Amino acid sequence: MLIVMKADATDSQVQTVVRIIEELGYRAHPMPGASRTAIGITGNPGAVDPSHFENLPGVSEAVRVSKPYKLVTLDLRSDKTIVQVGDATIGGEELAIIAGPCAIESREQAFTVAEAVRRSGARFFRGGAFKPRTSPYAFQGLGEDGLKILEEIRESYGLKIVTEALDEAGVDLVERYADVIQIGARSMQNFTLLRRVGKSRLPVLLKRGLSATLDEWLLAAEYIMSEGNYQVVLCERGIRTFAQHTRNTLDLSAIPAVRRISHLPVIVDPSHGTGKNYMVTPLARAGVAVGADGLIIEVHDQPDHALCDGAQALTLSQYEGLVNEVRAIHDVIAPAVVT
Ligand code: PEP
Ligand code: MN
Repeated sequence: MLIVMKADATDSQVQTVVRIIEELGYRAHPMPGASRTAIGITGNPGAVDPSHFENLPGVSEAVRVSKPYKLVTLDLRSDKTIVQVGDATIGGEELAIIAGPCAIESREQAFTVAEAVRRSGARFFRGGAFKPRTSPYAFQGLGEDGLKILEEIRESYGLKIVTEALDEAGVDLVERYADVIQIGARSMQNFTLLRRVGKSRLPVLLKRGLSATLDEWLLAAEYIMSEGNYQVVLCERGIRTFAQHTRNTLDLSAIPAVRRISHLPVIVDPSHGTGKNYMVTPLARAGVAVGADGLIIEVHDQPDHALCDGAQALTLSQYEGLVNEVRAIHDVIAPAVVT
């Protein structure tokens, strides 16, 4: 059930609805929008009786939700969510660019890449301190030392830091040093981790799982939101298919499909989505053309020597070229996507 307030409903009328929801033992999720506030209800084991709400002052209607998701949906919030990260945004008018190496390998490597990312005008720096590697013998990341390097980059360049947490203890650490918590494709259905980041004050970048359907991905976002964290960014990063010419198949149809259902911002990762250096820029262009709110791009000063994902890393100059191209595309298509 969701409660739609009238356009002129007062804060105290919204609070009354919230109180009644809580008195029933459920959780209230007020979502203020441009024209009206709607209040989602979660935690109810069965149908909620609309008569609790229908005659309250300020209430326009009590709507039964038949879909599996209650909070990610446009029914609850028809305006797009703009995720605010300090003075930067994801989902607003500006194309969000998140760039950096797959993994933080050393202070020198991270600073060299960060310098180029800053120069490009991007607002976000990415880099893993905790890496989800297929092999237990592969480089696992620098851990907290990597987070300390990321923190220094934030101080030096004013870039917002996006970095992955692999488990709940990792979230505690990432919260101390970073601005956005990344949940990797392999963790998309780690439900205890999703609930933990749902309690965080930091926005969450939620990658699509390697074999996740749209519903499974949106329900993963729903886990986070149901704990009270509404600052979620979806990221299409390619799925496993029979194709052998790429590492993954970048499913760009997911972007308009998400848009049709959800108010959450959605970005594209053409690096993991293709796994191949020469495909990253073409698919980045396509991602922006299809209406993504941003891109996450792997960049390395020496891709041949990268400890992780070197085959898909752009060189600094390739990255600079990509940013110029995608900005030009975004300038042309942005008005069409917004309407
Ligand atoms: C990454 O961003 O480096 C990463 C491991 O991504 P994914 O979870 O999409 O594989
Ligand atoms: Mn990577």
